[in-house]
This record gives sequence, structure tokens and C-alpha cells, in this order.
Amino acid sequence: MFVRFTKGDVTSYGVLNGDNIKKIQGDLFTGDYKITEETLQRKEVRLLAPCKPSKVICVGLNYKDHAKEVELPLPKAPLLFLKPPTSVVGPNNEVYYPEQSGQVDYEAELAIVIGKEAKNISEENANDYILGYTCANDVTARDIQFGDGQWTRGKSFDTFCPIGPGIVKEVDLENAKVELYVDGENKQRSTLDQLIFKVPHLVSYISQHMTLMPGDIILTGTPHGIGPVEKGSTMTVKVEGIGELANKLV
Ligand code: MN
Repeated sequence: MFVRFTKGDVTSYGVLNGDNIKKIQGDLFTGDYKITEETLQRKEVRLLAPCKPSKVICVGLNYKDHAKEVELPLPKAPLLFLKPPTSVVGPNNEVYYPEQSGQVDYEAELAIVIGKEAKNISEENANDYILGYTCANDVTARDIQFGDGQWTRGKSFDTFCPIGPGIVKEVDLENAKVELYVDGENKQRSTLDQLIFKVPHLVSYISQHMTLMPGDIILTGTPHGIGPVEKGSTMTVKVEGIGELANKLV
């Protein structure tokens, strides 16, 4: 798994294997890099969000089980919205409960990490533009989202987009489990076969509307079981084949 981390003042990419991180030299996104023998311990570094997106594109209502839960018809095309890059934080970063809201919800999601600039690409070629996958939590001030009727404000607070812990190249896009836990208690559990619009279709469709840049992130939607979380609780997203992303709400 590729991770981005800091030690002291230095930010680097590396490959995490068990408790060891091997530093990477070069650019993960161009493919022009090499894995060095310089090894650090997981506990001596701080993991960061694994990339710095120019934008975070989100897909609403993209799980069959979630559409059923909220009693909405299946969308005919992907329903898109954006979160600003300022909402992005990394693993174990705190998420701040905004004073404007009385209901903050978790949303466990599979995130696609774009590897290279993508415009008007086909579904068949989509995979060439994907660097890999990570876990995401589409934290949402639900009262504001529905009160406004327009989703931007409720989805955009600083810290409302935890991603991580790292980027894996391959995920089982049919069978991988997507789960969310609050203080260890399971709240969401589904599999990627519940996705209405699949990963290649999403990348192609979004690239017809806006140019995707290296490091951009696509949040693929959340399964059934959404719900509120209280201050002091820790939300943990687990995507099978990637790992765990834990963030405390404060
Ligand atoms: Mn979402």
C-alpha cells in the first residue's frame, strides 16, 4: 500500500508493508519512481491523506441497498456533487463538529484515486487513468444538506472528507466489503456489487463533464445504514483489500 507521511518537517511517499515503510523516490503519479531501501517504522511517522486532490467528486445514491433505504428510485445517471479540497484530512485526524449543525452523519465509501489527466475517456480505457483506491468518509451535516436543498454547505466543512490510510492498486470491485463502525459497533456493511454505476462508468462519465487531474478523488457513494454520530465517537471505515480509516469526531 502506498502511503504519504511526515516525519519532522519532511513529507514523503512510501510503501507500507506490515509495520515498515520503504521510502519512495520520484513521482508516484507519473510512474517515474523507485522504492528505496530507506526504511522507517510505521509508529515513527504520521500518515497523511494519501494524495492532495484538486477536487473531490462525489456520487450520491449509488448503492441499490441505500436507494431502497431512503425510498428513492434508482438514478438514471450518476448524481454528482463536489467536496472542496479543504475538507480533506488523513487517517486519525480529528473531524470537527460544526456549530451550525445538529446532525453529523458518517458515510463509508470506496474512493478512486486518479493517476493521470483524464478528459472524455471511454469506459474501456478508464482503468489506465486510475492510480488505485482508498477508503473515504463522506462526513455530512445532514440537517444542513436537506435544509438547504442544495448539498454544498452540508458536505463541505473543513475535515469533512477523511481519506486513507493509503492507496492500493487493485480492489475486488465485485466482492469487496464496505463497512463503517462507530466506536467498534458495525453500522454499515455492504459489498461493491451493490454499486449502481460501476467504477469504469463513473470515471468515464465524470471525465465527459470535467477534466480529472492526478490526485483527484472520486467518492463512489455510500451503502445502506447511514446515521448520525456523536461528539467523542470514532468513525472507522473499512474497505476490504485496502484497510481501515479511523477518525474521531470532536
Ligand atoms: Mn456520500
